[in-house]
Amino acid sequence: MKAEIIAVGTELLLGQIVNTNAQYLSQELAALGIDVYFQTVVGDNMDRLQEAIRTAQKRADVLIFTGGLGPTQDDLTKDALAAVLGRSLHLDRLAMDHVEQFFKDRSRPMTENNKRQALSIDGASPLPNSTGLAIGNALSEDGKHYILLPGPPKELMPMFEEQVKNWILQHVLTEEKPLYSRMLKFAGIGESALETELLDLIEGQSDPTLAPYAKESEVTVRVSTKALSVTEAEEKLDALEAQIRARLPENLYANEDVPIEKVIVDLLTEHHLTVAVAESCTGGLLMGNLTAIPGCATVFKGGIVCYSNDMKEKLLNVPHDLLEGEEAPGAVSKETAEVLAEQVRMVMDADFGLSVTGVAGPAYSERKPVGLVYIGLSERGKPTTTFQLNLKGNRETIRLRSAKSILYQLWRRLNERALV
Ligand code: ATP
Ligand code: MG
Repeated sequence: MKAEIIAVGTELLLGQIVNTNAQYLSQELAALGIDVYFQTVVGDNMDRLQEAIRTAQKRADVLIFTGGLGPTQDDLTKDALAAVLGRSLHLDRLAMDHVEQFFKDRSRPMTENNKRQALSIDGASPLPNSTGLAIGNALSEDGKHYILLPGPPKELMPMFEEQVKNWILQHVLTEEKPLYSRMLKFAGIGESALETELLDLIEGQSDPTLAPYAKESEVTVRVSTKALSVTEAEEKLDALEAQIRARLPENLYANEDVPIEKVIVDLLTEHHLTVAVAESCTGGLLMGNLTAIPGCATVFKGGIVCYSNDMKEKLLNVPHDLLEGEEAPGAVSKETAEVLAEQVRMVMDADFGLSVTGVAGPAYSERKPVGLVYIGLSERGKPTTTFQLNLKGNRETIRLRSAKSILYQLWRRLNERALV
């Protein structure tokens, strides 16, 4: 099954917006086992759009359009496809109600051209838009499948997730065995190191397949298999997962798409343990990560953002001599990370204390380089451990990675405990 993605919009050609929809759709289609052979970008021009459609019809079975479903005269995608297929457009009643309601709710007058957003190609299945106004369409003709999606990613993604996937399974992939996928999540290892570890598996296997999956600040691998039943699929995926886990037992933290803090909150809950955090350069990011997880209340005691040396001394008893003076290790040091982790654990009477202190940049501080970060892990009744990180990247990346690194160290500690 071959697909072509056709992104419509002069803004894309002018470089004013980045074609992230093509990236998203390519990843999603790959996960469904559909090969994307071409990604086309075409401007808001009727002739060239029709030409692009005719070209794609010759080389693809599935044509997925993004953009050009809006209300204005330069939104031409539906008109162009209808013209190529020799069909007409009609007003979809439900979509029209949705558009009218939208303007009524906001007490704004609806202009005539907004009706265009409720137009549907004759014979196509309407795809209601839960986050916007323009209705999508899906139809099949002469063995070709056409899917029309809105341009804004926040409209396109839910439409794809909630409706298009299902439509593809029911109309496009009917002959094929269904595809089952599983996300494997990794921490404490970079994307390229992970790929190297798994290269023979990535290159050698045709079923199940294994593909690194780009997700912001996370290392993820999607394993997929075609099978006749869930049981058969689970067996095949379990076997591959076990193989990967044996190679990376210290890194594979979940076999579903969850952040590491979710796994941590679950493990802490299971073992009736608590955690407290002391943050300097991450300024609350770490607590933000933990408290974003529902159910964290029973395991997260609290945290202190001690950004200034003053507060490190006052709130967490870091000795003045450690922080200031010619010979002092300074705020960004192993010693400070250690005291912060221990003290916050004791002050909050938690089982674990985590700390982060470092130079997020862009300017260096204490004559230490940007990206130098110390993290500390204190556990009741055990010696405190610290780690030195030398991170690359801008301020945001350094802060994010620092928070993720200490979470990773806590997960490793809990993982050891879970194994015994
Ligand atoms: P609207 O109803 O907003 O007009 P539309 O379906 O007509 O939606 P376009 O007019 O082509 O879509 O694009 C609207 C906006 O959606 C763009 O300004 C851009 O922000 C975003 N967008 C469009 N195409 C893409 C794309 N391929 N990748 C990422 N974003 C896109
Ligand atoms: Mg538009």
